[in-house]
Amino acid sequence: MDTIYLDPFIETLGRDALEQIQLKRLQMMLGPVLRDNKFFRQRLSAAGLRSPSDLRSMVDLRRLPFTTKAELSSDQAEHAPYGSNLTFPREAYTRIHQTSGTTGDPLRWLDTDESWAWWARCWATVYRAAGVTPRDRIFFAFSFGPFIGFWSAYEGARLIGALAVPGGGMSSYQRAKAILEHDISTLVCTPTYALHLAETAEQEGIDLASSNVNITIHAGEPGASVPATKNRIETAWGARCYDHAGATEMGAWGFECQAQAGLHVNEGEFICEIVDPETGQPTDDGELVLTNLGRVGMPLIRYRTGDRVRVKKGACECGRTFLQLDGGIIGRIDDVLIVRGINVFPSAIENIVRRFPEVGEFAVDVYRRKELDELQIRIEAKSGDPDALTSAITNEIRNGLGLRAGVDLVPHGTLPRFDLKARRFTDHRRAPNRSSTK
Ligand SMILES: [Zn+2]
Repeated sequence: MDTIYLDPFIETLGRDALEQIQLKRLQMMLGPVLRDNKFFRQRLSAAGLRSPSDLRSMVDLRRLPFTTKAELSSDQAEHAPYGSNLTFPREAYTRIHQTSGTTGDPLRWLDTDESWAWWARCWATVYRAAGVTPRDRIFFAFSFGPFIGFWSAYEGARLIGALAVPGGGMSSYQRAKAILEHDISTLVCTPTYALHLAETAEQEGIDLASSNVNITIHAGEPGASVPATKNRIETAWGARCYDHAGATEMGAWGFECQAQAGLHVNEGEFICEIVDPETGQPTDDGELVLTNLGRVGMPLIRYRTGDRVRVKKGACECGRTFLQLDGGIIGRIDDVLIVRGINVFPSAIENIVRRFPEVGEFAVDVYRRKELDELQIRIEAKSGDPDALTSAITNEIRNGLGLRAGVDLVPHGTLPRFDLKARRFTDHRRAPNRSSTK
């Protein structure tokens, strides 16, 4: 494989040398943070860390407290509007973004010019790993609102020298036309939107599979690591589909290489831990905990992402030594649906439903009726025999997950479409308005 690296030295470094560099970077960050960042100074000094030199090993790191989203939210409420996790005076910052707010109040996050450049570097790693070069023309099918993903992806394109074409303020039809007009070779959008755009274009008589798009990169939702969804995107676009993972408050931390064998963690810029969500102890299958190393102005140390991940063993054929996550983000820790005693991740249902090319959009609901959990799947079918399709999906769910599901066909175009953060899974047994995010 002809691997393209952004930084071949760091991306192929042995574990010990990599950890030494991570530790050095963290110590450098801790200098100004311990001095001027109220939020982390309090937390870290309470844990016995008073000077960067107190942190001598990864074992020392594991003695520091976790940071949770709930703590960040209450800090921002208490010290409105930006909270007390600020290392510099407000005038030092040049960018502000906010989270989508799908799981609570939006968090606001500030970047300095320096940390904004760091974001661009992290995205450049994503592009290079997928094989994007300065010769590429990248289309961003996003609305360009206050969500950081749009802007950071755009900025990263500049860094690698590709041509960046913004797709905000356009209908899907206009976007499809723009992709042809600008001879686009790389598409960046959510996995849901990639499918929706291809579907809309097809209805308008535009064949995007024969366009020059040969790479698609997906952010915002984890679908591009779900094999059946990945496969469907690759077929619809005649392209290779790559997953990417990031978060407004953390950074663009994950990318897929050309081996397409799982999600690499960018360990050159993030320290990665995986912990048991109950005990906080290290494990190979649990919650992802990250520390970022390039965002001194508003850092995160041992942040519990809420993402469920599993370590992939063995070396990747791309030659990178960065940790790999098997199947990307498997789901949110709190998104696991327990249906009649069986743990089901929404991605497992998605992977079954998307295997049927006849299925367009779908939605999953879990109810409790007469003390019994019921799993109900609504699907829009594009073609085929409806009875055969519903019974085939029912069978696959039973064989794959050990669950009985009701499968209902609904008319085409009646289920909601999503530009960002698709919500296809609703657990009606929980408090009202609590939808799980996929
Ligand atoms: Zn790889």
